[in-house]
Amino acid sequence: MKRERSVLIIYTGGTIGMVHDESRDTLVPFDFSHISDQVPELHRFGYSVNSISFNKPIDSSDVDPALWAKMASAIEENYDEHDGFIILHGTDTMAYSASALSFMLGNLGKPVIFTGSQLPIGLLRTDGRENLITSIEIAATMIDGEPAVPEVSIYFENKLMRGNRATKMSTEQFNAFDSPNYPLLAEAGTEIRFNRQHINRGAGRKLKVSEGICSDVALLKIFPGISPAAVRAVLSMPGLRAVVLETYGSGNAPTAEWFIAELRKFIRMGGIAINVTQCHGGRVEMNLYETGKRLLDLGVVSGRDITTEAALTKIMHILGSNGDISSERANMLLNRSLAGEIS
Ligand code: ASP
Repeated sequence: MKRERSVLIIYTGGTIGMVHDESRDTLVPFDFSHISDQVPELHRFGYSVNSISFNKPIDSSDVDPALWAKMASAIEENYDEHDGFIILHGTDTMAYSASALSFMLGNLGKPVIFTGSQLPIGLLRTDGRENLITSIEIAATMIDGEPAVPEVSIYFENKLMRGNRATKMSTEQFNAFDSPNYPLLAEAGTEIRFNRQHINRGAGRKLKVSEGICSDVALLKIFPGISPAAVRAVLSMPGLRAVVLETYGSGNAPTAEWFIAELRKFIRMGGIAINVTQCHGGRVEMNLYETGKRLLDLGVVSGRDITTEAALTKIMHILGSNGDISSERANMLLNRSLAGEIS
C-alpha cells in the first residue's frame, strides 16, 4: 500500500524556536513537541508532518561539524519514510550548514530545506510561520511523480535558493538571504513557481552520506595593511591543510614579495589555497590582472563564483571524506562542481 505523503521537520534551534516567557519576560526556546500550538495550520496540510528536536536547541553560532553529522544522520535514518525534510536552524550559520549538508548528502533525491526566521515564532509579527508553512509545502511538492526540488536549499521570505549558493545579507530584514550568483530555485507568491531548469535532478541512486569533515582549514581575509605577521600566523598554523583566501574584486591580492613568499612556502609544503572574492556577487578571474595572475602561477585554485561558506565547507568535506588525499587531487575536486556550488 502506498504510504501517505510525509514531511519531517528537524528542529535544531535558532530564533524561530523562541517564545515569550511571560513569567520571566524573556525569549526562551519552546518545547518543539508543541509546535502545532504555535502553528495550528500544520494540521491542515492533508499529509503527515512529523518533527524531531535535537536535545537542547542551540543558537546557530554554536553549530559545529558534529552537528552537521547529526543532521545528516537524522536525514539518513528517516529517509525512506519521508518525502522531504525541513531543518529549522538559526540564520547566522545557516548558509554554512546548508553548504556542508549539500556536500555530505551524496545522491540526494529528496528536498532538504533549511529555514528559520528573523522574529521568533511566538511573536505576532513573526516571519517564521510563513517560512515554515511554505517550506513544508515545497518539501512535499511532486512534479510528474518526482520531488520538485531534490536538493539542499534555503527558503526565506518567498525565495527558495540553492543552499550552497546562498549567503546571509541582513541582520534585520525579513529578506535575510541572497543568492547572488545563481537564480532562485523557486519563488512563492500567490502560487509557488519552480524554476525547473535551474533545479538539480535527483541522482536516482541510494543516498550516500559522508560525515567526514576536516577542520584543519582557515579563512584569511585580505585587507589593505595586512601585516606579514598576521599572514604568517595563519599560514603556519600547525596542521593547516587548506586556506580560503578572501581577496579583492576578481581575485586580486597584494603583490608584495613577503606575501607571495608566504603563500609559495605554504603551497610548496602541500597546502591548498582557494581564492574567493570579498564581493557579494561575481566571480574570480585570476587571469584578468597581474595581481591575480601571480596567485594562479603559485598554484592557488580559483573559487570562481563560489560563496565563502561553500568554499570552506567544500574543502572541509573533500579533506575529511577522502582519507589521505593528495593536494593535487583535492585541487582537482575543488575545480569540479560537486553539488552545483560553482558555475
Ligand atoms: N543568533 C540566531 C541564530 O543564528 C539568529 C537567528 O536564528 O536568526 O541562531
